[in-house]
Amino acid sequence: PVDRTPEVQAARLRLPILAEEQQVMELINEHPIVIVAGETGSGKTTQLPQFLYEAGYAQHKMIGITEPRRVAAIAMSKRVAHEMNLPSSEVSYLIRFEGNVTPATRIKFMTDGVLLKEIETDFLLSKYSVIVLDEAHERSVYTDILVGLLSRIVPLRHKRSNPLKLIIMSATLRVSDFTENTRLFKVPPPLIKVEARQYPVTIHFQKHTPDDYMAEAYRKTLKIHAQLPEGGILIFVTGQLEVNQLVRKLRRAFPCQQQDNKPGQQSNVQPEQEPETEQEFDMKRSIRNMRKSKKKFLHQISLPKINLDDYKLPGDDTEADMHEAHEDNDDNEDEEDEDDLEELQQLTAPTTKQPLWVLPLYSLLSSEKQQRIFQPVPDGCRLCVVATNVAETSLTIPHIKYVVDTGRQKTRLYDKLTGVSAFVVTHTSKASADQRAGRAGRVSAGHCYRLYSSAVYNDIFPDFSQPDIQQKPVDDLMLQMRCMGIDRVVHFPFPSPPDQLQLVAAEQRLSVLGALEPRTEGNTPPVVTQLGRVISRFPVAPRFGKMLALSNQQQLLPYSVCLVAALSVQELLVETGVQRDEDVAPVSNKFHQRRMSWAASGNYRLLGDPMVLLRAVGAAEYAGSQGKLASFCEANGLRSKAMNEVRKLRVQLTNEINLNVCDVELCVDPQLKPPSDAQARFLRQILLAGMGDHVARKVPLDEIGDKEERRRLKYAYNCADMEQPAFMHSSSVLKQTPPDWIIYQEVYELQHGDTQKMFIRGITAIE
Ligand code: ADP
Ligand code: MG
Repeated sequence: PVDRTPEVQAARLRLPILAEEQQVMELINEHPIVIVAGETGSGKTTQLPQFLYEAGYAQHKMIGITEPRRVAAIAMSKRVAHEMNLPSSEVSYLIRFEGNVTPATRIKFMTDGVLLKEIETDFLLSKYSVIVLDEAHERSVYTDILVGLLSRIVPLRHKRSNPLKLIIMSATLRVSDFTENTRLFKVPPPLIKVEARQYPVTIHFQKHTPDDYMAEAYRKTLKIHAQLPEGGILIFVTGQLEVNQLVRKLRRAFPCQQQDNKPGQQSNVQPEQEPETEQEFDMKRSIRNMRKSKKKFLHQISLPKINLDDYKLPGDDTEADMHEAHEDNDDNEDEEDEDDLEELQQLTAPTTKQPLWVLPLYSLLSSEKQQRIFQPVPDGCRLCVVATNVAETSLTIPHIKYVVDTGRQKTRLYDKLTGVSAFVVTHTSKASADQRAGRAGRVSAGHCYRLYSSAVYNDIFPDFSQPDIQQKPVDDLMLQMRCMGIDRVVHFPFPSPPDQLQLVAAEQRLSVLGALEPRTEGNTPPVVTQLGRVISRFPVAPRFGKMLALSNQQQLLPYSVCLVAALSVQELLVETGVQRDEDVAPVSNKFHQRRMSWAASGNYRLLGDPMVLLRAVGAAEYAGSQGKLASFCEANGLRSKAMNEVRKLRVQLTNEINLNVCDVELCVDPQLKPPSDAQARFLRQILLAGMGDHVARKVPLDEIGDKEERRRLKYAYNCADMEQPAFMHSSSVLKQTPPDWIIYQEVYELQHGDTQKMFIRGITAIE
């Protein structure tokens, strides 16, 4: 029996899913696998675990609930504990590096990555009576893999007369990938829809789509606040930096006097400036302790010096926040804001003096601060939450009547050719935009202001975003899954499978890299090597991960981080006057000269084109530290935007290494000296180790009799696995004296008259 307070009882009764409790539970009792779909806010996450608990599912084993986001795992465990009047030792959470699970835990919220890890050691998940996969519509890689794994685990548990229930929850009705995939579930699982009360939301499109969506979001919020009746405002932006920037501006525009008359209390207290509470202090201390104990743990691992137990959660958008958290936050942005602000204040200031209660919401925010969105708004204030897409489906913010949607999100995109990833701001899908709009209709009729035109929505926004698993490079995925002990990745029942040929190719490439043992005769799947486990730690393509893994020697790490970052970002260098399909014309413009001189310092044959990248990044960072990045890039043929990407990735990789490798205190040095000849020689070996499948040999000209043919093949190379020779691109600094053996970064094909011609770029000599 659960002992709930009257307040909680009352709040529960307002949730649509409560009316369906009996129906939902009957379905679950009768079927091993059930899908529950219901609008965000209908009560799925907070109520279903309670239904299961009251039906006795926690009596002998645990109820496990997975969330793609850490934020949700923590917030939901706290909410459910509160509603059930149970301590956190019984309703607990576990995310990477943090949790409060005890032997007494009955209901366990966790990230999907954590449950996958548990499957590695306990394939049948014998501690659980039921697993709830929440937010399955988000199609995070790990949730998708969990669906596939559990489709096999559930029947196995049934066979052993120790049944396990699986419940897949989704905020949308787009579940056909789960229900209609017969490889996944032979019998399609029943679907139950929770009807939610949704008030009408009026959608307002913008006539034009402004580039500066942040300024527009600010303007629109001021307008709503000044002119429209009561009701909370929810603003969607793309990341932590944008959230903080907008929060700051809005707070300055409409300072909030806390209506608190306690003597001695300062007025004008903004939430973020409150003195540290006991709780916050505790939280910080526990994080510090966690770090310490992690350090200790790390010291016990020897050879690769990298924590083998630590892996990234690709579906988790804290990644995107993380990557921002280390960014330089104090550029001149603030000053510009000030001007902007004054101008806008003149526009709107006279119309309202009502204070705005502005709260930030993003995944890396401490959970105490996140909880503020659920706390009462001070009297006389209007609630305004500035959020990333965390607020799209995982957390339901109460009292929202107005939604301001920038229509943007931050995504991690992967380059198909190199597998390299970059964070970019993209348009959301129509489905996301509609989810965001829906947030305005929970309490009463609402309004959604879209900061883009209906044409952009109709023509450019995709209907749905692709499942992560089909966007990620499979090399990376293959290695991750193999590290998790999933043997036959090719036969794995994915809800939406990645391309099969791609999977096979990925496996081969991984064995060449040494991340997997070579495939032996017969059917035994190749084993992940220790190197493979280290490689899988880094957020870059496995070949680059290998380069980093091998670099913890000879003070090479700063260079290989810089190199990997530069290689990972496309088009850092402006093309030097010649077309990409031009292969003979010598390049004589000044950019090329500059690149030749960069490469030639020391012995240019040592690193070739990658040396140009290293020097370019080094010189640009130095110029940047003097405040001259833009002009430097302009003068030297670098793309400053790409340069910024390189810097972010460098910071991210550096942090990752500091976090994972003990005894290394790496920093991003803006004055990195060029490598010595000895170091360049080591770096070449490391490049070779990462690019072993990108070796090419010069076509031997002295074996060719015909003079014309000799001329044609002057820069031709034979690459492994390719019938046609590929030609060294004229941008290469090695073109003056083409070496016999090389490694290349990129090979690509171009239409050349009637025929295709292959080119190779990013060349290093091996000699
Ligand atoms: P769903 O999973 O279907 O999207 P939830 O179970 O997350 O719905 O939310 C149900 C309701 O509980 C929402 O109205 C939400 O605002 C409320 N809620 C969730 N967490 C808290 C909290 N910490 N404090 C107060 N209300 C909360
Ligand atoms: Mg939910």
